[in-house]
Amino acid sequence: MKKAYLHVHIVTVDDQDRVWPDGGILYENGTITAVGESAHVEQIARERGAEILDGGGKYLFPGLVNTHTHLYQELTKGLGSDLSLEEWFPKAMAPVGAALREEHMEAGVALGLLEAIHSGVTTVADYMQHQPVPGLGRVELDVAKQMGVRMVYGRGYRDIGRAEVVEDAAHIFADVEDLKARYVQPDGMITVWLAPAASWGLSDHLMRETRRYADATETPIMMHLFETGSDEAGSQQRFGKPAIEWFEEAGLLGPDLLAVHSVALGSAEMEKYQQYRVMVSYNPVSNMYLASGSAPVRELKERGLAVALGTDGAGSNNNNNMLEAMKSGALLQKVVHRDPQAMTAGEMLRMATIEGARALGLGDRIGSIEVGKAADFFLYDPMHSPIACPVCGTPEAALVYSGDHRAIDTVVIQGQTVLECGILTKGDEDAILVQARRMADDLLCRIR
Ligand SMILES: [Zn+2]
Repeated sequence: MKKAYLHVHIVTVDDQDRVWPDGGILYENGTITAVGESAHVEQIARERGAEILDGGGKYLFPGLVNTHTHLYQELTKGLGSDLSLEEWFPKAMAPVGAALREEHMEAGVALGLLEAIHSGVTTVADYMQHQPVPGLGRVELDVAKQMGVRMVYGRGYRDIGRAEVVEDAAHIFADVEDLKARYVQPDGMITVWLAPAASWGLSDHLMRETRRYADATETPIMMHLFETGSDEAGSQQRFGKPAIEWFEEAGLLGPDLLAVHSVALGSAEMEKYQQYRVMVSYNPVSNMYLASGSAPVRELKERGLAVALGTDGAGSNNNNNMLEAMKSGALLQKVVHRDPQAMTAGEMLRMATIEGARALGLGDRIGSIEVGKAADFFLYDPMHSPIACPVCGTPEAALVYSGDHRAIDTVVIQGQTVLECGILTKGDEDAILVQARRMADDLLCRIR
């Protein structure tokens, strides 16, 4: 399959931050093979017999990379409003997690991915934290394949907590192996990671086993870390030592660890992050929703650490909208530092694209518009939205500060068009909404 879009305003987010105001892109069998001036790309596209489409001056951005969510929480929107993390988890999320069945997963994941696609997301890192029945990973990955969304699946687990969801190491790693064997292909559309729960759901033994398995199989780890002061308080109570010392001694820290949240960090924790080159996922909306605080993004970046962006689950966000996360994340940093330069629109776009790709180990494959990378991008048409129109400043500022899902016109993942003229191509949007409402009602019945 060979296809080209001509006359698009391309924001590449490459190393030089190149922009092509009258640009063109050609992609063949899922890979970008030409980018540049529209006339130049047109010539190549004609020589190769590609299908040629006129982009009509729309903006073209690399697909957004959501480095942290919990898609099943789509069925819990509003359930845990106005609570702190320490109240929200046991009251709202733990009962839901224990009651989850295949039909809930299928409906929640479909809605979450629909929302993701409509907000320009092409890659989702989903942290599936509860496994009350076997096979939920297969349900989720089947939906992702069907909808054509690139996914990093974090196989969640814990060995402390409600009896319905605790597991032992052998059982967990056997499931991870099974998922890898079934779904991981060379195209990088699906990757499987380890997703141990927060430290308060994990024994020291399982944390050490996590590192052992990760090293033996080169499987990266995503984990909620320092979301609030609970990690520190728990470690002091259980082991009489700072949490960061426990994590270091248990082998958790490393360049293959994506530390989600990382709000409650002091200089000692940041020094260890720097020493072990830990990656960070910044989740501003969730951190504000649960009143957790603000991650020290500027300090982490000054230490040379990779910081990516995530929405977190709809349970602590009420949506999966990366456009909202970009705006909120930039504004939060500005207000924390009382400095409008604390995070610029351009920095935020990099965080939501190429930095996200790097954090998920996909930096060579996605995150920017460059020859040799996968054709993961979206077309943005401000004329479809009163919020997005007009564009008076840079395209980056328009997307980050006036971004609106109605302006997300077309989404392409691995060369496949999953949204065309604002309409889902691989599924029935109305049916997804109806089923999500039915399954949310069913889930709530089971926990009340
Ligand atoms: Zn989370």
